[in-house]
Amino acid sequence: MIYTRAHLEALDRSDPLARFRDAFSLPPGVIYLDGNSLGAMPKATPARVARVVNEEWGKSLIRGWTDHQWIDLQHRIGDKIGRLIGARPGETLAADSTSINLFKLLSAALHARPGRSVILSETGNFPTDLYIAEGLVNLLGKDRQLVTVPSEDLLDHLDSSVAVVMLTHVNYRSGLMHDMARITKAAHAVGALVLWDLAHSAGAMPIDLTAIDADLAVGCGYKYLNGGPGAPAFLYINKRLQPDFQPALSGWLGHDAPFAFEPSYRPAPGISRGIVGTPPILSLAALEIGVDLLLEAPMAAIRDKSCRQGEIFAALVRQELGAYGFTIISPQDATLRGSQVSLSHPNGWPIMQALIAHGVIGDYRAPNVLRFGFTPLYLGYSELWDVIAILKQVMNEAVWERTEYQRLAKVT
Ligand SMILES: *Cc1c(COP(=O)(O)O)cnc(C)c1O
Repeated sequence: MIYTRAHLEALDRSDPLARFRDAFSLPPGVIYLDGNSLGAMPKATPARVARVVNEEWGKSLIRGWTDHQWIDLQHRIGDKIGRLIGARPGETLAADSTSINLFKLLSAALHARPGRSVILSETGNFPTDLYIAEGLVNLLGKDRQLVTVPSEDLLDHLDSSVAVVMLTHVNYRSGLMHDMARITKAAHAVGALVLWDLAHSAGAMPIDLTAIDADLAVGCGYKYLNGGPGAPAFLYINKRLQPDFQPALSGWLGHDAPFAFEPSYRPAPGISRGIVGTPPILSLAALEIGVDLLLEAPMAAIRDKSCRQGEIFAALVRQELGAYGFTIISPQDATLRGSQVSLSHPNGWPIMQALIAHGVIGDYRAPNVLRFGFTPLYLGYSELWDVIAILKQVMNEAVWERTEYQRLAKVT
């Protein structure tokens, strides 16, 4: 079919998620397709953070840990995130950054599989995941190794040398989505654990870690969970693994009796042993607002809208931009695609800079990828039309060739 703006306006009028847009603060004149990198700010966040600062910290001081339950916040928010990813209560914790959580869970996974030397991952995994694994392997010494293979070859490399398979569910660059159930089952069949990175899927689609009998997972608080820049991340440890989970970062708040100030470490029972040190209460307060908003929305409707938005966006690229040399690198089949559509173009960087200057915020991933993320809670269908119209103008009038769009920034 040929799409028109009127088609998309009609979809906006019947959108069951339309009411959520008003819960977010978005600057006028901006179309935001980068919620997969930094989610938008819920309107309720500033007041909540101000209350924690002025009332809880300002007036309760140290009593806040008890009077305002700061000490339980990581568990409370963790369990809320757990509901988004199909975890049972007591399996999810809001904590640290995704990178740190990867280290914590990978090291524990290696410990739980003595005699197995390999962390198996894919070549195109997100860099921090691979870097953290490299660092851990270097720390632990000669007999451990990180093996990376192209994603289509993963199952061929599963054998009794593999301690843990570490994969990102949705690839950050292409949006290609792994079959979590199938890979988890195959890894279990050879006695390996699986660590899933849900950075690009938690809050974007239904996930059921319990149904697939997942082992370990991590994910991001500042992407689809809308927790704010540098928001605490989360970690998940299946209950069946918790008793054998040996923390390498054995900090005092993960101790069985932190306030007994014992001379040596004994891990707390349950998910608490995933805690390292004092949690960032202001950041957790902001994260909770984002998570609460997501819990109000039916996840099936979020996924449904995200798939349609991806399909429409790709169709509009084909319909309107055929002359300009873009290649759609995301899977065509929505069941294999996360909540983004990525295009490659040899002039990806200046084109994205020109788009951003014209109010369309997506992002660029080296060497040539323009990435457009769909966040159904606050992105409308007709905005997709406007994005394509602006992109067409940028190409048609060679706007991107201007010198101001050529300079590479420190953060991309
Ligand atoms: C965004 C992202 C991260 C981010 O890690 P930080 O420690 O928060 O910087 C990690 N892994 C993946 C797959 C990501 O997409």
